[in-house]
Amino acid sequence: MKTYGHFVGGKHAAGTSGQFGDVFWPMTGEIAAKVALANTADVAAVVENAKAAQPGWAATNPQRRARVLMKFLDLANREIDSLADLLAREHGKVLADAKGDIQRGLEVVEFSLAAPQMMKGEFTEGAGPGIDVYSMRQPLGVVAGITPFNFPAMIPMWKFGPAIACGNAFILKPSERDPGVPLRLAELMMEAGLPAGILNVVNGGKETVDALLDHPDVAGIGFVGSSDIAQYVYGRGAANGKRVHAFGGAKNHMVIMPDADMNQAVDAIMGAAYGSAGERCMAISVAVPVGQAAADKFMSVLAPRVEAIRVGPSVDPQAEMGPLVTRAHLDKVRGYVDRGVEEGAKLVVDGRPFKMQGYENGFYLGACLFDEVTPDMDIYKDEIFGPVLSVVRAKDYDEALRLPSENEYGNGVAIFTRDGDAARDFAAKVDVGMVGINVPLPVPLAYYTFGGWKRSGFGDLNQHGPDAFRFYTKTKTVTSRWPSGVKEGAEFVMPVMK
Ligand code: NAD
Repeated sequence: MKTYGHFVGGKHAAGTSGQFGDVFWPMTGEIAAKVALANTADVAAVVENAKAAQPGWAATNPQRRARVLMKFLDLANREIDSLADLLAREHGKVLADAKGDIQRGLEVVEFSLAAPQMMKGEFTEGAGPGIDVYSMRQPLGVVAGITPFNFPAMIPMWKFGPAIACGNAFILKPSERDPGVPLRLAELMMEAGLPAGILNVVNGGKETVDALLDHPDVAGIGFVGSSDIAQYVYGRGAANGKRVHAFGGAKNHMVIMPDADMNQAVDAIMGAAYGSAGERCMAISVAVPVGQAAADKFMSVLAPRVEAIRVGPSVDPQAEMGPLVTRAHLDKVRGYVDRGVEEGAKLVVDGRPFKMQGYENGFYLGACLFDEVTPDMDIYKDEIFGPVLSVVRAKDYDEALRLPSENEYGNGVAIFTRDGDAARDFAAKVDVGMVGINVPLPVPLAYYTFGGWKRSGFGDLNQHGPDAFRFYTKTKTVTSRWPSGVKEGAEFVMPVMK
């Protein structure tokens, strides 16, 4: 059986912990590989390597650094089919969606080519007699990224692309559930000409993460995962003096106003709720039709569409939705469907009996649709992270605006309407970080920033876009005076601008 180790100093390394996790293929349910789980000593070795390599990379001019990423883009694009195949097998999402996962990551690497421009500082000539003031952006040093299972290509690239373009050495701690693609991306970066030690991969779980959070030579941590762990990582990393941003879970609502084009809204919610089996942090998990008539119409168009979703093995090109990531996760999601029934929600489409012929051990669940969900129910309050859509009927626009605003999460939200005034009011007032107007998955493009509010994001700066360059650099400000501006005599008062 294949065993995944770590990637340290440009080479594969077995690690010393002697501990391993299982990597499944969700579509068959088989254990396809073992993955080494790094201990504190393994992490120390990775950090040492990265620390030794980083000054040389920081001293490499930014255009040359960008050229390595350019070459990487070329290599990764050439290999996209086999990367997508591996991703689909280890994650469970279907092939076309796996390709999207890779492409959205590559778009951020593409944007990272702007580092020479984005890292430029400021300059003020003649701020005083003979005085010039200027600022420069310098890399943090060694930084780490801790990423979730659900985007094993995209989120690692969101992090290492800009971090490396800025001159940092990067340690990626991907999810232990699907480490194959992250390791291959590191190999491709080496093939593209990256010096050894600048992109390292260390596999593992909590012990590995804690070792990164506590290591004094790790200057920055970018985390993406569930909210409780995001908050923990943020707290422990910040307490250790690191720069940290940590992105968490979500409960994304889609408001459907009575004037919306119902067919368009239903088309949109199909992929947004059930794509990747709902295992997306921007997935729509709550639909909020406004008014009884709109809700009835919405449900009558939606329910037959949900029943007709083609569930299949991840590598079947006809499949629209694949299995969930692990059996434990499948059991958890199924448990929520049971709970929703107990709580009194109306289960309009029940995906629980679904069986995938020929793949009886795979982690499949058919699409589920609940109507008449209320905000006090667990299926409304908790992030389920599966193919389960809850419909909460709102009596009017004010209630529809209040629901996502009062939710503890604040990642994404969407409104479907033809009324520009309502859309504008919603975008301005809703207490959520990313808003879609007639767009169900408002994942911003690479050159805008990505980040949720409330329990969906901890820390000050977002991912990708201009914030990425701020996050992965520190600003140094230089005040200089040359002899033409120097007055004779000592001054003991605080210098002020006269
Ligand atoms: P997770 O929180 O279980 O794991 C995320 C990372 O943390 C992994 O690398 C994992 O190994 C590590 N980890 C797990 N337990 C830990 C612990 N006790 N201490 C320290 N580290 C630990 O998340 P997941 O199940 O891999 O991913 C799904 C979650 O990620 C969902 O909640 C989803 O909404 C969220 N997510 C958020 C965003 C976003 O941008 N806000 C994007 C994608 C996914």
